Amino acid sequence: MTTFKFEYIWLDGYTPEPNLRSKTKLISFDNFDGSVSLLPDWSFDGSSTKQAEGHSSDCVLKPVRVYPDPHRRNGFLVICEVMLPNGKPHPSNTRSKIKRKDEDFWFGFEQEYVFMFDGKPLGFPEDGFPAPQGPYYCAVGSGKVEGRDIVEEHMDACIDAGIGITGVNAEVMLGQWEYQIFGKGPKKAADDLIAARYLMERICEEYGVEIELHPKPVKGDWNGSGMHVNFSNEEMREQGGKKLFESICKKFAAKHKEHIAVYGAYNEERLTGLHETQSIEKFSFGVSDRGASIRIPVHTAENWKGYLEDRRPSSNADPYLVAARVIRTVKGK
Ligand code: ADP
Ligand code: MN
Ligand code: MN
Ligand code: MN
Repeated sequence: MTTFKFEYIWLDGYTPEPNLRSKTKLISFDNFDGSVSLLPDWSFDGSSTKQAEGHSSDCVLKPVRVYPDPHRRNGFLVICEVMLPNGKPHPSNTRSKIKRKDEDFWFGFEQEYVFMFDGKPLGFPEDGFPAPQGPYYCAVGSGKVEGRDIVEEHMDACIDAGIGITGVNAEVMLGQWEYQIFGKGPKKAADDLIAARYLMERICEEYGVEIELHPKPVKGDWNGSGMHVNFSNEEMREQGGKKLFESICKKFAAKHKEHIAVYGAYNEERLTGLHETQSIEKFSFGVSDRGASIRIPVHTAENWKGYLEDRRPSSNADPYLVAARVIRTVKGK
């Protein structure tokens, strides 16, 4: 028998945006093949996570996806849904809003974030600001990028865990970075993003650096952080057609407010119409247009097959809510 370490990970009940929580369960198996069905439900004190009242505090963690833990011997990361004791999804359980039949949707999340140290973005001087934006995006060289060692460690950890990471880049503000997570199926893509966020938080503990997911961490002429959502379904990828893509964009235009409602808190500070964003008050779409709400990538417009990029979601958005809303709108609901 071997004792395995299972890190049960869930989203708490804090508003406006939930936090990651986790605790370790030790289980002995002769062998563990990675099957989620072998893992038992587990309870936790919901009164400490804003998910229950003290007098009836038990909530239930239901394992839904397992990854090898890149940092622990005989360890696994276990993404969990939070359930009520009666077996129904807890109100904070946004993953349960995604239905099985939507597996033909693929998602690519571009997670932007800012490393923080001593209450400032990593690399910002003690007083005042660094040189204005311009040299930092995809930069190389001391003084132009900060935190590359963490980025590298996180990228390797994601690869080792089998998370669908597709790339990383330094962003427009000093101390700001992005990684991209792609998955076939909304639950796979969103679970992978949650696991990647978890690994980033854990790696940053070693460095004494914090992760800021606020969409506008530095006011003024500094880029905010988004979570562009790239999406496609089978019809967009295989049948395609200019008409199809334009009709989808028009469906999105009609639901702009409903989308903004689930695209992350404080997003109005970021979606100003400046810094490669469209104003939160407006909806627009266009080929290659990085000032639009939805960008039609140039390679999609070449033969009108492929995916669309919704540029509105903010860095702190809940990927389950975002994916569920995108699917609903594409389907015309
Ligand atoms: P940008 O030019 O906007 O910075 P990125 O390369 O950062 O683009 O991100 C694009 C994301 O879109 C990647 O994660 C990629 O895997 C994803 N993607 C590519 N094709 C599709 C598709 N057909 N459906 C959904 N997402 C896709
Ligand atoms: Mn990108
Ligand atoms: Mn970006
Ligand atoms: Mn993008």
